[in-house]
Amino acid sequence: MSKSTPASPHARWSWLISQALLAAGLFGTWIVVTRPPWLFGAVITTVLGAGILWIAVSALAPSKADRTCPDCGEKGLERMNQGSTQGVVCTACGFRDAEESSFYMAEEEGPLEPIALAERRRRRALR
Ligand SMILES: [Zn+2]
Repeated sequence: MSKSTPASPHARWSWLISQALLAAGLFGTWIVVTRPPWLFGAVITTVLGAGILWIAVSALAPSKADRTCPDCGEKGLERMNQGSTQGVVCTACGFRDAEESSFYMAEEEGPLEPIALAERRRRRALR
């Protein structure tokens, strides 16, 4: 009796790749043959619109620090060192990760300039 492995979520839609490539090829051929005059404007509008939409979404809904501990699942992550944007510690279980970025936490907690200047001084001292 063979043991079946569970299919990955990507495997469910992988059969569409060949059809999508065929459709892209046909669309490219159609563009070359018919040279639609509206296509340039549509592409420019789409690219600029996506950029403006990206900026609007980033300004109106800025990212937030994920303070969920990967070890215990509690919202207890804090910065390990108040003078650095690297390293997290969990106040609930004591989990520590010195390599994890805590940049978003530092950004939420206050200005980044003193931290950036302190890190620059630390790097210069190492030279
Ligand atoms: Zn924890």
